[in-house]
Amino acid sequence: MTGAARGIGAATARRFAEEGASVAVLDLDEAEAAKTAATLPVDGDEKAIGIGVDVADAAAVEAAVTRVVEELGKVDVLVNNAGITRDNLLFKMTEDDWDSVINVHLRGAFLMTRAVQKHMVEAKFGKILNLSSVSALGNRGQANYSAAKMGIQGFTRTLALELGPFGINANAIAPGFIVTEMTDATARRVGVEPEAYREAAAAATPVRRVGWPEDIAAAAAYLCSDEASYVTGQTLYVDGGAKV
Ligand code: NAP
Repeated sequence: MTGAARGIGAATARRFAEEGASVAVLDLDEAEAAKTAATLPVDGDEKAIGIGVDVADAAAVEAAVTRVVEELGKVDVLVNNAGITRDNLLFKMTEDDWDSVINVHLRGAFLMTRAVQKHMVEAKFGKILNLSSVSALGNRGQANYSAAKMGIQGFTRTLALELGPFGINANAIAPGFIVTEMTDATARRVGVEPEAYREAAAAATPVRRVGWPEDIAAAAAYLCSDEASYVTGQTLYVDGGAKV
């Protein structure tokens, strides 16, 4: 699970551990990843480990996946969750804003999936889950992020086509507003207190509340379960109806 030291990734790691899985928490900072891994409820033969990796770095990704297989024995599930935002209106967006976002989301998901798929193909089993966003449908100030998140949906559909014959399912979740560091940082950047920003988001959402990382973790648990073995290539919007 990438980007799992905090936010949606950490909640999903917790949910998977609660369901009896061993979990590898991958994040930029190994100490933070290990700290989160140490809080996960694992017992018996299950393990939780933390590994530092920049998902946009091909060599680091190969090394991280090798470590996961060595330490946990196999990879049944890959969750491509690591993400950043570098919001700016198009006329102010720098090449660095564009490249960093595309690199973490798209190059990162590509590199991680390429490294993991060989183990899954060998095992004839695997579940790949990619994090898209409602911003894939377009969002002012997020030309880079929305392009990456719609790219993730096309990537997911192609993985489903190529890897389905090997017992591997690939799906995506497109969250709406989920309370994490990412949305709190966006609030501060636009000069609004995070609490007021959440209230405005809740008011603009049909179910009249914001989403929490556990909402995404629940959908992730379903999509990576045997019950969803006939579901592949899909993007599930988990957004309280925000984009209906
Ligand atoms: P978050 O709280 O900012 O957590 C993202 C994590 O990814 C951080 O721990 C971050 O590490 C890590 N990360 C960033 N760049 C990385 C890299 N190159 N390699 C490895 N790890 C990296 O974000 P979140 O809100 O949980 O979002 C998780 C995913 O859901 C993202 O893909 C995001 O785009 C998507 N999403 C979120 C929302 C929302 O409302 N929150 C909505 C739609 C989609 P550092 O802390 O070291 O930077």
